[in-house]
Amino acid sequence: MATFFGAIADDFTGATDLAGLLARSGVPVSLRIGLPTHPPEGTAPIEIIALKSRTAPVAEAVSETRAALAWLRAAGAKRFFWKYCSTFDSTALGNIGPVAEALMADLGTDQTIYCPAFPENGRSIFMGNLFVGEQPLAESPMKDHPLTPMRDSNLMRLLAPQVSRPVGLATRLTVAKGALRERMAKLAAQGVAHVVVDAVSNDDLTLIAEACQTMPLLTGGSAVAMPLPGLWQRQGFLPLQDATPFHAPAGPAIVLSGSCSAMTNRQVAAYLADGHPALQLNPLDLATHGADHALAWLAAQSPQSSPLLYATAAPEAVRAAQAQLGADHAGQLVEKTLAACAVAARNRGTRRFVVAGGETSGAVAQALGITRLGIGPEIAPGVPWCAAESDGNAVAITLKSGNFGAEHFFAQALGMLMP
Ligand code: ADP
Repeated sequence: MATFFGAIADDFTGATDLAGLLARSGVPVSLRIGLPTHPPEGTAPIEIIALKSRTAPVAEAVSETRAALAWLRAAGAKRFFWKYCSTFDSTALGNIGPVAEALMADLGTDQTIYCPAFPENGRSIFMGNLFVGEQPLAESPMKDHPLTPMRDSNLMRLLAPQVSRPVGLATRLTVAKGALRERMAKLAAQGVAHVVVDAVSNDDLTLIAEACQTMPLLTGGSAVAMPLPGLWQRQGFLPLQDATPFHAPAGPAIVLSGSCSAMTNRQVAAYLADGHPALQLNPLDLATHGADHALAWLAAQSPQSSPLLYATAAPEAVRAAQAQLGADHAGQLVEKTLAACAVAARNRGTRRFVVAGGETSGAVAQALGITRLGIGPEIAPGVPWCAAESDGNAVAITLKSGNFGAEHFFAQALGMLMP
């Protein structure tokens, strides 16, 4: 069956998150890492393209995303999704709005929705304000994110400066009483192109998906897309199918963590408490001594010990490193080092990779030369194991977005795979 649904994600963990939720339907999901270099051939019913465009300059993000859209259209896709983080990660000069407007222009559509809610992971939207658990976004640990600190919780206020056309709201009350379609039409008549849509539960997401399923472009977190395959299966646009079984290749494992999110800090602490060998990377040391120390340390560990390399640190330590090096440079030093360690591990036979952090995952996947992922079982909501090929070797890899997963995520991920 030809491709029907095409999605573009602004980072790699976001793409695997979306892929994991869509794969719950049993429909085969294919995920491309980076813009495909070949024209589409033998594509899956659901195709996702993972970009690393969240913090890229706007013009670059727009042109890459438009190219991805063109590829998905050439693959035959009829409905499109622009996926960003469920914490709406973006700087004030960010890419979410400009990319959405460019996609709307290319698709010739006048309206889209913005719904980053992910109730299973504690992200909800009420009256246009995004909450992380019980806290407004701007009071949550996201206020200290190394690259995209979120200092406002109101999605309309965050979005308005990024777009040229009016922004509006469809509240939870409208969604829950099944009146979203009418509200969208009313806003469209007023010229409102960008509609933030409240959602606090999976039932809300189902109602939103039902109301918006014929729109050419939807935007949001992964969760609002989750009900779409089921709706389209019933209409014959997507095949009814059982997911293909997932076989992880045998071989040692490594955990690489470049995320400084609050949950990742807890996950690293839990893994350290389990007694695995671990090395903490400090951007200030990396700036003077490079990656050699980390590579030498890794070479000295038994591959069977599932070692951990992490730059994960508390907000004060991140700020200190950034004050000396600049946020971008500090981030790149960490990303490059973890990527080099991933390659060294693969070269000595490691076949299972647990990676924490969106940007970090992008760097690691790129260094491993991974261009396509098959989606396997979810370890935690929005975090599936994936099958890939790296330098001719079958590998299993999971790309975990900062705040996803529970405290024992690393051990849980490794424990899911057969020895
Ligand atoms: P998340 O998914 O939690 O947002 P990311 O990998 O997307 O994680 O972003 C974290 C960024 O912070 C990366 O660019 C990473 O290299 C950088 N980083 C990691 N550790 C440190 C540190 N100790 N100091 C400064 N920056 C860091």
